[in-house]
Amino acid sequence: MSGDKPSPAYIRRAVEGADLNAVRVALYHNTGDASLAELPTAAKMDDAQRALLIDKAVAWLSENAGPGELPEPPLAELRRLMNMVTGGEMGDLEFEARHQITGFRPHPFTASWTAEKPALPKGFKVAVIGSGFAGITTGVQLDVLGIPYEIYERRAEPGGVWSINRYPDVRVDTASITYEYLFERGHAWSEYFGRGPEVRAYLAEVSKKHGVWDKTHFNHDLKHATFDEARDLWVIELETPDGPKVVEANFIISCSGLFATPHIPRFEGQDEFRGRIVHTARWPDDLDLKGKRVATLGNGSTGVQMLGAIAREAAQVYCFQRTPQWVSPRDKYGEPMEPETIWLARNFPGYWNWWRYSATSNLFETHQIMLIDREWQAKGGLINPVNDAIRADLLEYIKRETGGRQDLIDKVTPDYAPMSRRPVVDNGWYRALTRDNVELVTEGVERLTPKGIRTADGREIEVDVIVTATGFEVAKYLWPARYVGRDGDDLHDTWDAADGARAYIGMMVPKFPNFYMLYGPNSQPLSGGPAQPVWFAIWASYAAQGLVRILEQGKSRIEVKPEAYERYNSELDEEAKKLIQMTKEGGVEKNYYVNNEYGRLQVNAPWYSPFYSRLCSQVEWDDLEISNNNMEFAALSGESKENAES
Ligand SMILES: Cc1cc2nc3c(=O)[nH]c(=O)nc-3n(C[C@H](O)[C@H](O)[C@H](O)COP(=O)(O)OP(=O)(O)OC[C@H]3O[C@@H](n4cnc5c(N)ncnc54)[C@H](O)[C@@H]3O)c2cc1C
Repeated sequence: MSGDKPSPAYIRRAVEGADLNAVRVALYHNTGDASLAELPTAAKMDDAQRALLIDKAVAWLSENAGPGELPEPPLAELRRLMNMVTGGEMGDLEFEARHQITGFRPHPFTASWTAEKPALPKGFKVAVIGSGFAGITTGVQLDVLGIPYEIYERRAEPGGVWSINRYPDVRVDTASITYEYLFERGHAWSEYFGRGPEVRAYLAEVSKKHGVWDKTHFNHDLKHATFDEARDLWVIELETPDGPKVVEANFIISCSGLFATPHIPRFEGQDEFRGRIVHTARWPDDLDLKGKRVATLGNGSTGVQMLGAIAREAAQVYCFQRTPQWVSPRDKYGEPMEPETIWLARNFPGYWNWWRYSATSNLFETHQIMLIDREWQAKGGLINPVNDAIRADLLEYIKRETGGRQDLIDKVTPDYAPMSRRPVVDNGWYRALTRDNVELVTEGVERLTPKGIRTADGREIEVDVIVTATGFEVAKYLWPARYVGRDGDDLHDTWDAADGARAYIGMMVPKFPNFYMLYGPNSQPLSGGPAQPVWFAIWASYAAQGLVRILEQGKSRIEVKPEAYERYNSELDEEAKKLIQMTKEGGVEKNYYVNNEYGRLQVNAPWYSPFYSRLCSQVEWDDLEISNNNMEFAALSGESKENAES
């Protein structure tokens, strides 16, 4: 492209490489050209219809392209446009959950004051723990409300998992167009699936731009927090480079992540091993694998993502596999995002919005895939028609990618249903297994020896480096930080005394007032909804609604009622029983979504996504107890407001 105005050929390339559903709806949105509304969705267009659409878009852009945003249309029109993208009608529940994903509002899914902002009690403050995706979202939400907050982050920079994980080829496995903030959109990703350092840089940029960075105390690790019942505030003990520090806050919103604490395995004989052992979440800067013999342990998302890159460096790789995974391809994974595409997103008003919506809509229909169809099974099916079709496609894919090597196919094919564990995206994993310098080892590790690994069948494999891609302490939630609520109750002791970590709507626990968790127990949506950044906004806004309520009412404490917590969790357990995750067919005993100690789903929200979205957006105030024990707040609820914010 030369100069500011791109050539017609450049514009044509941009349109031809674009998401044509998004092009069609964005063009219709701009022009109201009725003939566009009559076209089918891209998958159903014939060549002439596709050519017509492209010609119209090129012609319009040649005259009108330029930066700009479209206002959100009236809701009925918005719904019609959303239906045009997917080519089908949606129900009211779906529209309610999805319409803000289009991102026309400056801050979608964000809570606001119900009337004029009230005066806040002097010194009122929210402590946000963690500055990953969720912590930054929460900071921006609080900023929109004008509620003072400070973030405490144990690391030296923001980014969370994108700061922690620096293993070879680390990158997102959901398309970057959906893995960016709705309030900070249209980032010029260099690849369709952005690499770790780029996501880290994006998060740092957003944090700075929105003033979150300035309110973040880096190298501050929350060790202990105690609720002071007399004053309705949290006393927070932090470890900092200058020693221990104590701060107070009226609220805690924990954004400490599900994957912040690595699970580091211990092996028998570990101290004898003379090589190096590294965890993927503790990747040393100085680690050079060139010419080395390397063992990789674990083939979840991380292990699969890094194998190809390691195999290209190392002399020999032994890929230890305990549980086979369904490893599936993604369109445009590993491909650069063309400058034309970035130009289009920035110069075709509405295109980014409809592109993101279109990309998200790929996930809308996935819930059914996880439900067991007993009638289908009675007819000889395995799970349900769609799940079985996915299995057949993936089996073909495995055959193709392994070059038909039956020895590999037998070892890597799972005996449980696809979609029952976290989807693992193929970054050339199967192909890496066919390399001369890679061996797939399915025997378990018995112990380490001075020179390497002894497997269960007595073989000794000599290696220089052992890379453990063994995941995170997922089931422990917030651990190792300790939270002490009312009556001196410790959060982890409470969970341990029952059946593991639980929460009300993934966020609140009785006896822990003024305390919300984002990405808490049973909160990760399984299917059928927007990508993760949208959920952070929804959850942050749920917590913000609690803040708004008590501040508007001049109250100082909000807490979930025990009976609401119990009711919610028993409904959740019932719902979970319908999912393949909880069945033998779904490989229940090897699934990190499931807490096998207690035989229950723990990581996921089992609900149909639009319903779960409603649960997290429309607060059931009857389930919550709002009260007042802090005299400064009491003063605010009366006539006099002299204690108000200075
Ligand atoms: C390698 C990897 C790849 C992933 N890829 C994707 C993807 O492609 N798409 C997707 O949707 N999701 C992905 N995920 C899931 C990912 O966890 C979420 O998308 C998201 O980044 C999590 O954000 P978070 O803010 O909740 O948590 P985190 O990113 O984990 O951030 C939590 C922060 O809290 C800090 N913290 C924790 N405890 C304390 C404490 N006691 N005191 C102070 N600070 C504390 C941590 O240091 C960390 O910075 C991936 C996860 C991993 C591990």
